[in-house]
Amino acid sequence: MKNQVSSRRHALKQLIGLTALGALDFLRAPQALAAPRPTPLAIPGFAGKTIQRGEKGYEIWRQSMVWHMSKPKRYPDVIVQAKSTQDVISAVNYAAQKGLKVAVRAGGHNSNGPSLRDGGLLIDLSALQEIHIDAEKKIASIQPGVRSLELVKAARSKGLTFPVPHCPSVGLSGFTLGGGIGWNYSQRGGGSTHSIVGAEIVTADGSVLQATSKENPDLYWAVRGVGPGFFGVVTRLDLKLYEAPKAILASSYILPLSELKTATTALEDIRKAGRLGHTEPIIVLMHHPEQPDSAPPQQSKICFVTVFAFDDSEEKARKALQPYAESALAGSKTLLKAEYQPYDFEGLYDRYFSLNDPAGRCARYAVDNVMTNRGTETLHALADHFAKAPTRWCHVLASFNMNTKVYADSCFSWAIDAYVGCYAIWDEEKDDSVNFAWLKGNLPKMDPFAVGHYVNEVDWQLDPQRFMKCFTEANWKRLKQLRSQYDPTGVFHNYLGQS
Ligand SMILES: Cc1cc2nc3c(=O)[nH]c(=O)nc-3n(C[C@H](O)[C@H](O)[C@H](O)COP(=O)(O)OP(=O)(O)OC[C@H]3O[C@@H](n4cnc5c(N)ncnc54)[C@H](O)[C@@H]3O)c2cc1C
Repeated sequence: MKNQVSSRRHALKQLIGLTALGALDFLRAPQALAAPRPTPLAIPGFAGKTIQRGEKGYEIWRQSMVWHMSKPKRYPDVIVQAKSTQDVISAVNYAAQKGLKVAVRAGGHNSNGPSLRDGGLLIDLSALQEIHIDAEKKIASIQPGVRSLELVKAARSKGLTFPVPHCPSVGLSGFTLGGGIGWNYSQRGGGSTHSIVGAEIVTADGSVLQATSKENPDLYWAVRGVGPGFFGVVTRLDLKLYEAPKAILASSYILPLSELKTATTALEDIRKAGRLGHTEPIIVLMHHPEQPDSAPPQQSKICFVTVFAFDDSEEKARKALQPYAESALAGSKTLLKAEYQPYDFEGLYDRYFSLNDPAGRCARYAVDNVMTNRGTETLHALADHFAKAPTRWCHVLASFNMNTKVYADSCFSWAIDAYVGCYAIWDEEKDDSVNFAWLKGNLPKMDPFAVGHYVNEVDWQLDPQRFMKCFTEANWKRLKQLRSQYDPTGVFHNYLGQS
C-alpha cells in the first residue's frame, strides 16, 4: 500500500512538473510574445473543445495527449476534443477540406505518442466514455475513450469480463485495435482484438460505416489488429464479453538472474508434461526493488516469475498452479515465493502501481518486442544485455502460453506462444540517448527468435520499418491497398515513419 501511494505521488509530482513546465515553455516561446494569438477555431457542426497552436494552453494540452513523460517534439496545428460521433465527422470533413492531415488519440498510452504529428489536426477521443452492456448477448458497446478499469467495473456488475490491458488507465480502443494482450489472454484467443465483433467507423469522406464479419468485412478485418496506423476513426467498438472467473490465483517466485535457467527449465518441463493448461506464466527480468541503484548486477538483478490462473473455482485454480509449486521454481534456488495468492481485478491492477513492478511507472518510456515460439531462448539471449540496463526501471517482460491464433477475418498476423518486450524507463531527458541505445541493443539479440512483432509496442525510431514487420507481407500489402481505397487522398496519417 505504501509503495502504491508513493508511486502515485511520484506520478502526481511528474504531472505537476509537466504542467508548470508546459506553462513556462509557452511563455518563453518567441512566437507567443511576437505573434498575435489565433482566435479560437470554429469548426462547422463541431460542439467539442478546440485549440490551435499558439493559443494559450496549447502546450499543456499537447503534452497531455501522451501518458508517459517522453513527450514527442511534434506539434499539430489544431487539437480538437470530440464529444460525439457527429463531432468526429465534422472534424474529419473540416480537416479534409482544409488539407489538414488527421491523427487520433484515445487513451494516450502508446509509447511512440503517434497521436502527436507535425501539423494537421488531432482528434482527441478521450471524452467519449459511454459503455453499454448487453448482458444477454454478452456484448459491451463502448465509445473509444473508455479505459481498462472502466470496462472491468461495468462488465463485472453483470457477472461478465473482458481480457483488458494489465494497467487500469490504458485506452481500450488503441489496445484492442493493435492486438491486445490482456488479462486472461490464454483463454481468450491470445489477442483481445479477436473479441471485437463490430465497429462504427468514420471514414475519410465523413461517412459512418458499420464493420462486422458481414458488413464491410474488409474494414472489420483491418480494425482487428491494425494498431496505430488506421485510415479512419473508430467511434464505437462492440466487444464480446465472457463469464467472469470465480477465482483468480497467482503464484510468484523470485530467483537471482543467474538462476534464469532454473526458471525457464521449470516452465519448459511443465509444458513438455502437458501441464500448462490455461495458466499465464510471466517472467520479468528486473532490478530487485530493495536493492540500491548502485548494487552490482549479481546482487540486484532478478527473475520475477508470476503465474496466474483464472478459473471457475478456487479448487480448479489451485490445481492449475500446482505444477509450478512442484517444480524447481519452488526449490532451494528461489529467494522468495508467495503461492496461491487470491486476486480480484483491482488487485491485479495494483500490482502495476506497486514499486515492485516498474511497468506502470509514469516516466520517460520506450519499448520494443518480439512475438515468438522460442520465448525462453529469447530471454537467455537478452539476459546479459539486460544486466547492463542503464536504470533500475528498465526490464524485460515475457508472457508465455499465449495461444494466439491467426484468423482470416483479422489482420493480426502471428500464431505464437510468447511475447517478449524490452522496456526502457528513465527520468531525465539527458539520459534519453543512453536508454535508447540500451533498447536498441536488445534488437539484434531478440530479433533472431522473432516470428513477428507486436504493433502496439514497437519503437519506430529504432527501425523505421518496424511497423511493416508487425504483419505478414500479404497482410501489410492488403492494409496498404485498403488505405488507398478508403482514404485515397491521404486524409489520415499513416504509421509513424510511413508516408
Ligand atoms: C502502462 C502501460 C500498460 C500497458 N499494458 C498493456 C497490456 O497489458 N497489454 C497490451 O497489449 N498493451 C499494453 N500497453 C500498450 C497499449 O496497448 C498501447 O500503447 C495502445 O496503443 C494504447 O492505446 P491508447 O488508446 O491508450 O493509446 P493512444 O496513444 O491514444 O492511441 C494509439 C494510436 O492508436 C490509434 N487509435 C486509438 N484509438 C483509435 C480509434 N478509436 N480510431 C482510430 N485509431 C485509433 C491511433 O493511431 C492512436 O494514435 C500498455 C501501455 C502502457 C503505457
